[in-house]
Amino acid sequence: NTFAEIDLGKELNANIRRCKYVKPTPVQRHAIPISLAGRDLMACAQTGSGKTAAFCFPIISGIMRSQQIQKPRGYRTVYPLALILSPTRELSMQINEEAKKFAYQTGVRVVVAYGGAPISQQLRELERGVDILVATPGRLVDLLERARVSLQMIKYLALDEADRMLDMGFEPQIRKIVEQTDMPARGVRQTMLFSATFPKEIQRLASDFLSNYIFLAV
Ligand code: AMP
Repeated sequence: NTFAEIDLGKELNANIRRCKYVKPTPVQRHAIPISLAGRDLMACAQTGSGKTAAFCFPIISGIMRSQQIQKPRGYRTVYPLALILSPTRELSMQINEEAKKFAYQTGVRVVVAYGGAPISQQLRELERGVDILVATPGRLVDLLERARVSLQMIKYLALDEADRMLDMGFEPQIRKIVEQTDMPARGVRQTMLFSATFPKEIQRLASDFLSNYIFLAV
């Protein structure tokens, strides 16, 4: 019942201790083992439930285990291994900050891209390499159209606050993005969908994007 009992890899476990997380929250207690087992997940979870760590820990741990950390840097097109989609600039920035703390000294590189800010600095950050990309849907579509990001290598996909993304009208962008992760160059995609509510539209996304998934309500 503590993080010390869950083997997420030496560095990640050390970072969790450094963040002073001792006990998993309910969503973490259930979602982390499900994701570590490789299953798709649809979780009903509110802000403040600890959902950021619930999707970040299995992603970071999985990337470290697969030793797929991308070494080459400085290419025009980058190939992230994990994508975290979030509705707003504020939420993306928050996820990015947390993910960077969790990924400290793991070699896993986290980059954020959101709209409403100049793209040039985000492009420079991307060029230095990216394992986990945190993005808002509109800005990511822009990066895909410029061929600065390819989703061919995506192994982990997390959709955060999916209901809010749909409320904001992002469904076409989300579908376009997820389509591009459909044929990963290697292995199958593992998908996690987080939403505070579970209306018909979200159920439809879940059945379109997740395979054989576990439904979690905490
Ligand atoms: P979230 O729901 O992901 O936005 O997290 C809400 C807040 O709880 C954030 O400030 C986290 O840093 C914190 N938090 C998440 N999980 C834990 C945990 N297991 N123990 C202590 N604090 C946590």
